[in-house]
Amino acid sequence: MTPFTGRRLRFAAALSALLLGACVSRPALGAPAPGAPGATLMGVRYWTGPDHTRIVLDVSTPVTFTQQSAGPRTLVVHLDGVSAAGDARRALRIADGVVRDVAVDSTATGIEVAVSLEVDAECRVFPIAPQGEKPDRLVIDVARAAEPTLEPAAPRPPERRERRIVIDPGHGGEDFGARGFGRTIEKAITLDIAKRVARLVDGPNDREVAVLTRERDEFVPLGRRVRVARDARADLFVSIHANSSPDPSGHGVEVFFVSLSGATDVAAQELADKENAADLIEGSADAGEAVLASDDLLGILLDMTQSETIERSSRLAESVIEAIRRRARVPVRGVKQAEFRVLRSVVVPSILIEVGFVTNREEAKKLSSSAHRERIAEGIADGIERFLELEETAPSLVDHVVAEGETLSGLAERHRMSSEELARLNGIPVGPLRIGQTIKVPR
Ligand SMILES: [Zn+2]
Repeated sequence: MTPFTGRRLRFAAALSALLLGACVSRPALGAPAPGAPGATLMGVRYWTGPDHTRIVLDVSTPVTFTQQSAGPRTLVVHLDGVSAAGDARRALRIADGVVRDVAVDSTATGIEVAVSLEVDAECRVFPIAPQGEKPDRLVIDVARAAEPTLEPAAPRPPERRERRIVIDPGHGGEDFGARGFGRTIEKAITLDIAKRVARLVDGPNDREVAVLTRERDEFVPLGRRVRVARDARADLFVSIHANSSPDPSGHGVEVFFVSLSGATDVAAQELADKENAADLIEGSADAGEAVLASDDLLGILLDMTQSETIERSSRLAESVIEAIRRRARVPVRGVKQAEFRVLRSVVVPSILIEVGFVTNREEAKKLSSSAHRERIAEGIADGIERFLELEETAPSLVDHVVAEGETLSGLAERHRMSSEELARLNGIPVGPLRIGQTIKVPR
């Protein structure tokens, strides 16, 4: 997998060509990208996020584009010297509350892509260079426009909503995962432990609610696992796996968290490659999932909040491995970083736990025992619990996602500080906030 640094460079280049502006109020802005005559639009995909819709145009070579508004709530992107493949010419109905539909039409000089909006929105159009098997892409991001208001929002008590812990049992269905001694099969071990963790996390007096990405022996593509987390508005994402090795002496519990800059070591990356291959079993996931799990989405998300999320993931990983060591009295191999796709696509603290090696005779035997699996589950639930406790009591800053109607001054007042102080804390100017924007506020 490509290390993140390479993508960051390309992403920065893409950003420099970025057009920022309200779709409907700033007509005829244009920025040329390197153009090539004879390019083909091969397909149009989209993905609906919590606060924006991303439309991805797959093109055969870099294209020159201009954007303009065409009447209220319509954005038109002209692609010069581009023709559309048959499939790409079909109108795409989205109707997700932000974008109504996308239509592709031929013009004298190329094609135009008309995006009709359901609400006032802000659009950004930018190219992404090819990566791996992915072609050149032109991305149209449509974000629900924030409604800037000078009225401070009424102070509200901080919300104490329940916390959703998404538990992700690795593999399933025709994807068996690792097979080991004594007919141990990874997919069965992960499901059993995940269910136990969910039951423990769901305790009657707790504020935590567990959500499983699968509850049966079924194949679930990585993209859908991520979508479960997103739909559940997950606070934490915990993926459970069992390890294997050609070396029968390999043993121990490992916890991974996402890496942006490459794996801790080669073995970690090999493992990540193995787990990432899960999606290949079913061929390609459907279009929405493919985009969701793709790097496209990450390009944006990573820049904004990811370093903080990674820091928290690392703390979650430490907390969980320590609790497993204590509860299950198993050797631990430690906490490592690797580029697991299922982790990278999630924007909340996320870890992947390898509960032991099924290829190690002793560990396979242990993992076959329900008492041992229960202790592992207790360790995981314990680690999660302690992590959450620590975050709650530590006197520091927390992320706050700006909701509709919230303003900088309103948030500042709620935290008994001035707008200027809160802005300085975040390194942002005093001004309107965007819905969905993450800012730091005191606990
Ligand atoms: Zn696995």
